[in-house]
Amino acid sequence: MSESFATRFAPSPTGFLHLGHAYSALCAHDAARAAGGRFLLRFEDIDQGRVREEYYAAIEGDLRWLGLEWDGEPMRQSARFEAYDAALAQLRARDLVYPCFCTRKEIAAEIRASASAPHGIDGPVYPGTCRAVAPAEREARMADEAFAWRLDMERAAELAGPLQWSDRELGRMKAHPENHGDIVLTRKDAPASYNLAVVVDDAAQGVTDIIRGKDLVAATDIQRLLQELLGLPEPRYWHHELVTDDAGKRLAKRDDARSLRTLREAGADPAAIVAALRKGPQVPDAALRSR
Ligand code: GLU
Repeated sequence: MSESFATRFAPSPTGFLHLGHAYSALCAHDAARAAGGRFLLRFEDIDQGRVREEYYAAIEGDLRWLGLEWDGEPMRQSARFEAYDAALAQLRARDLVYPCFCTRKEIAAEIRASASAPHGIDGPVYPGTCRAVAPAEREARMADEAFAWRLDMERAAELAGPLQWSDRELGRMKAHPENHGDIVLTRKDAPASYNLAVVVDDAAQGVTDIIRGKDLVAATDIQRLLQELLGLPEPRYWHHELVTDDAGKRLAKRDDARSLRTLREAGADPAAIVAALRKGPQVPDAALRSR
């Protein structure tokens, strides 16, 4: 096996896989096999409130039904909290994070009240309220209030300097992590945010190539920054198109968006689904019919 190529499929066990997941898994699987590399599986199960035990086995079963075998034991993020703590400690030691005590409601009110609230590409970002809390008050409040750790984006981006990443379809991209403001790294109710866990785990799994949907392009700017700050390697990226039906409508948004489980129970042919997805992210209804 080639040590220079490893990719992963990283579903959350919060529901059944649908065709969008199948396409992602297939792209990653086929790329790994073509390169003689590894295809890894990782369960992104930090959000314990939404995770259901039965979905781990269901996801594994549906991948096998499609004929996609992964290499090694799947990683579970719920078993990796120490690694996320260690990454956060690295950022704390460099004074790049601060505790945030705000509730969603308070953040929304602060944004409404301020004419100059900072904006990113998707609208207003965290206004930085808790960045200004004095050290002594911080200590006191940390002792008895719930808090999230946020990245001090301005300091972090300045320290990291200009960053780029490479994508098989999009080419060389300039990262603009500052568009996201002071992002959350650990939540009040969870020991890591999606972005922190992903960069820590991709490095731990030796992932050289991240293959996933275009809906995660914006998050890549944040993840490049975190990789740089944590001294982790820069992976290559391929953000593929999202799966649509015959008419070009995103399947996940369709009213009858079917899970692989539903298709399977209705007697669909996994080989026909895989063959259709290998041609591209548009799945003709004919490929979904029962045998
Ligand atoms: N867990 C994420 C999802 O299911 C994927 C994260 C990633 O590929 O980076 O959308």
